[in-house]
Amino acid sequence: MSERHLEPKPTKIYDEIIEANQSYAASFGAKADLALPPARGFAILTCMDARLDPAKYAGLAEGDAHVIRNAGGRASDDAIRSLVISHKLLGTKEWFVIHHTDCGMELFDGPTISSLLETSRATASFDGTAWANSKSEGGSSEGWHVAWLNFKDLAQSVRDDVARIRNHPLTPKDVPVWGFIYDVKSGQLLPVA
Ligand code: ZN
Repeated sequence: MSERHLEPKPTKIYDEIIEANQSYAASFGAKADLALPPARGFAILTCMDARLDPAKYAGLAEGDAHVIRNAGGRASDDAIRSLVISHKLLGTKEWFVIHHTDCGMELFDGPTISSLLETSRATASFDGTAWANSKSEGGSSEGWHVAWLNFKDLAQSVRDDVARIRNHPLTPKDVPVWGFIYDVKSGQLLPVA
């Protein structure tokens, strides 16, 4: 049983996005003629972290590449679904797994977020050591059924995801799968061996 979700009211962010989009669309130009398959034939799986902009750190323009993002840039079943579609139906020939330093996925574990959620769905706070709920009502135990895919060892998380993708039965054997760490302090991509 779940209560009704609140009806959204217009927000400042909403207005900002609409305004930004109008100026983007006003000079859309030749992008109207872009083909559906990525022109440069590759895909990036990376973290949703707001400091990462794959278009900038990897030099992408609209139409160049697939970018698949989730919390951690993990090779979840859904990320692999996207990669398989990317190659099988849209022809990408090279895949990049890019995690990053200072990732939030290193700051919690499954039992921590699941028990926080069980008490309250409101945003929790982190004091540098531990997480704490800001409210003590409105929780759900559904979190215990989620694979949160958090990690403790950054380089190992890249190796694990590269291996999982390479060894997946739907991954073609001739697609290189590269692993990198993006350094949020320098903007550099560091290969993971
Ligand atoms: Zn991250």
